[in-house]
This record gives sequence, structure tokens and C-alpha cells, in this order.
Amino acid sequence: MSRTLPVSKNDYIDVVFEDLTHDGAGVAKVDGYPLFVEGGLPGEQAKIKVIKVNKSYGIGRLIEIYQKSPYRVDIPSSEKNKYGGCQLEHISYEGQLKYKENQVRQVLTRIGKLENVTVHQIIGMDDPWYYRNKAQVPIGEKDGKLIAGFFKPRSHEIVDTEESLIQLPEVNEAVQAVKEICTELEISAYDEESHKGVLRHIMARYGKRTGELMVVLITRTADFPDQKELVEKIVERLPKVKSIVHNVNSKRTNVILGEKTKVLWGNEVIYDYIGDVKFAISALSFYQVNPVQTKVLYDKALEYAELTGEERVIDAYCGIGTISLFLAQKAKKVFGVEIVPEAIEDARRNAELNGIANVEFAVGEAEAVIPRWYKEGNAADVLVVDPPRKGCDEALLKTIMDMKPKKVVYVSCNPATLARDLRILEDGGYTTLEVQPVDMFPHTTHVECCVLLVKK
Ligand code: SAH
Repeated sequence: MSRTLPVSKNDYIDVVFEDLTHDGAGVAKVDGYPLFVEGGLPGEQAKIKVIKVNKSYGIGRLIEIYQKSPYRVDIPSSEKNKYGGCQLEHISYEGQLKYKENQVRQVLTRIGKLENVTVHQIIGMDDPWYYRNKAQVPIGEKDGKLIAGFFKPRSHEIVDTEESLIQLPEVNEAVQAVKEICTELEISAYDEESHKGVLRHIMARYGKRTGELMVVLITRTADFPDQKELVEKIVERLPKVKSIVHNVNSKRTNVILGEKTKVLWGNEVIYDYIGDVKFAISALSFYQVNPVQTKVLYDKALEYAELTGEERVIDAYCGIGTISLFLAQKAKKVFGVEIVPEAIEDARRNAELNGIANVEFAVGEAEAVIPRWYKEGNAADVLVVDPPRKGCDEALLKTIMDMKPKKVVYVSCNPATLARDLRILEDGGYTTLEVQPVDMFPHTTHVECCVLLVKK
């Protein structure tokens, strides 16, 4: 079989990179056979070593770059301040934005078969550093000390990180402090292999506008020693902390959060603002991680919804009601639906907190609840969806096509599933008018889009 391939394992070859994959690797072709090489940039000539050959593609390692891309920059982080997942850190911010916009265009054409849709220039950040309001770091042990950071790519080895260049300083500080305190108290790190030890993850979340910090300790065991001292030390070292939460995850799993959650100290939630709307955020709830760009994204969703005060709006996958409450300011009534019960509790509390009365929230699967509402005669004029990476459930798309809202605003964190769903909606009577990519996650390959569809 390998005889028919143009390259063999361990070959050293010269290539020119033509493109980037959706996870940021360079793509070079030899007689049409694609090779994926981490670190290669379009336009660059390089020597690579072929390290793996599959039937339809190969993997290479970058050996030497003969001619560098104008978008290549020196990697700003070292091991100490690195954060896992910054796949684009070798590309200038300008280059990253170009790549992301391009990726959206390509995917919409290739998967969505959308030829004439307007894709606007991506909205990037003025300052694309220290933006994340949340960290969730795995804990390990080295030389008798706890370490916290990220997994080395394709391994289970944790790299100890002192500072992440993409997290807010308060978040970095919180992770460091809790790591040191737990070391002082000799709390052991969880070990995946033996399923022993205590501390699995430290999570920190910070309300940028309110200055409120939440610390979540995720442990294997429900009990662990010195809880009182731990709390005292955290409160003393981190004056911004308003909530310390303990989450127990006793399972052998790589899912981070477990089922049992208990407040160890302070409030159950912290608060933050997006625009003028105040939000209570609990440990288990989804909350956008880039507060600056979230405002940009939600403003766009509101603009596309073009509300006059007369509309009934459904916000599917509403989380803690962030988009719902934003829309409620301009709509007649908003109905939010979300699968996580705690998030809906937060959503209701958030409506009350802001004195917003024209919203109603329901717990359940969007694909089950919305068809039920529709059967009961509750159709919407405007439907907003903001699904997780896997996109909308087919049953939901079908209900949209039956219910025929005038407008659909699709907020997406995954261009591939977005394109798939847009195709279905196009075939079912909708036209995709505008796509606005927003860079919510600088230096990573992720790209968010806000899309307007109207009934044909
Ligand atoms: N719109 C919110 C949340 C978006 S994230 C915001 O901007 O903050 C996607 C949300 O969908 C998560 O809160 C997740 O819990 C929820 N979710 C996942 N699958 C779902 C389903 N089948 N039905 C309803 N909600 C779901």
C-alpha cells in the first residue's frame, strides 16, 4: 500500500506550505498527498521529516524553515508562562485574524455550499492578551510540590505554569496562590493512573467589572484535611475572593467537574456585568470567558435580531440567560431554554436581579422543549441559538423549519457544524444573509460567529 504513496516514513523532504488546517497545522502537498506539519505557515518553504504516513494524509515534523512567512513571530511564551492550547502563538495577531476569517469563508463554501453569503471582516481585540476570566487547571506533583498548568500535547504530563499570557492577572494569581497553599497544607495531587490522591483541578473565575473572584477546588474525595485552614489562607492571600466552592469528582474520567458541589466559604455565586446587565455566575454554569468580546458578540446578536418591542423571542441553549436578558431589553417576551438546571436557576436569579420581567426560562433539551412550546401554540418571531460545539440537534432544526420564525440568529463556536446547520436551514426555507466572525479566543484556533438568517 505504502508503495503507492509519494512519501515514506522518515523521509526528509522540501515542501511549501499552502494552507492551515482547522487546528492550525501547516498543510503541504506532495503530488496531491497532504502532509500536516505543526508550526508550518502558508507560503513558507521548509525542510520536514515525515513521521507518519496514513492512506490519505501524512504527518511531518518541521526541521528547517528556508523562507519565513511575514506573519511568523517569535513565540512570546516560555514553559513558565505558557498555556496549553495556544496553537497560533507563532503567528502575528494580524495573521491569526486573517487565518480565522479565511477559515470561516472556506468552511461555509466547502461544507455549507453557501456561495453568496456576506462574511464580514472578523472583529479582533485591541489588546489580545490576558483576556480569559476563567482557568481550569489540572494538578500534579513534582519534587514534593504541587504543580498546576496544562498537559503537554499528546501526553499526560503536566507542565507547571506560573503565568498564562491569555488569562486575566487575577486568575493567574488565584491559581498560583491556591497551588502554593495546598502545597503548604500537604494536600496531595490526584493521580490519574492509580486513581489516588486528592486535588484534581483548581478552577478560578473572575468578574472583570465587579472585581469578584471565585475559587473552586475539585477533589476526588468528599473529605480532605485542613479545610478550615485552607479557606482561611485563601481568604487572606486573595482579598478579592467572594466565593470558595468545593466540587467532588470521584470518577475515573477526564470530565473536570463532578456531581457534588458545596460552598466552603462566602457566596454561592460571583457577579459580573455584560453591558448594563448584571449576572450571577455559579461554579457549574457556562459563562463566556472573554468579557470584552462577549459584549461585541451579543451586541451583534441584538443588532441582527432587530427587535422593535413587539417580538416573541426564543433563546435556545441560553446558559445563565446572558443573551436572553440582553434581548429582553428590546423584545416583548423572551423564552430561554437550557439543559443545566443550575444555569436556569442562575438565569431566573439574573432576571430578578435586573428587574427584567418579560422573560421565562425552562430546563430541558432545546430539541425537546421548543417543539413542545410550538405544539402548545407558542411560536417565536425571532429564534436565537447558541449551541455547544456539536451544533444544533436535527430535531431542533426541524422545529425551526416548521415554526418558521421570521429571523434566526445563530451564534456559533464551531464553523464546521455551523456550516452544516446553515445548509439544512437553507434547504428548509431560510437565507443566510450575514456572517460576522468575532475573535473570542486570541492565539487559539477557535473562532466564534454570529449569523443572521431570514425566512425566504
Ligand atoms: N448562550 C449562553 C450559553 C451558550 S453555551 C451564553 O452565551 O452564555 C451552550 C449552552 O448550551 C451551555 O450552557 C450548555 O449547557 C447548553 N446545552 C447543551 N446542550 C443542550 C441541549 N441539548 N439543550 C439545551 N441546552 C443545551
